[in-house]
Amino acid sequence: MTQQKPRPVPGVFKNVMVPIQLWLLGQGRCVGCGRDLGSGKSTPIKGVGQKIVCECGRVFIKEAKTNQYRRALLSEV
Ligand SMILES: [Zn+2]
Repeated sequence: MTQQKPRPVPGVFKNVMVPIQLWLLGQGRCVGCGRDLGSGKSTPIKGVGQKIVCECGRVFIKEAKTNQYRRALLSEV
């Protein structure tokens, strides 16, 4: 189980906003509204970390291993 099939890249990741979004995530901020994700609604996810729902409705994952935020996958929303 070491091979992964390539998955289609969601359209949102193809645009020029990506570096800004990554920068915002690195700051622990929502990529949509810039709010501090620490103030979002968080739910623990077993084995992953925390699911954070921003006030604007975007969903993020704070990974327990790295303590970094990332956008939630569709399967995690
Ligand atoms: Zn937001």
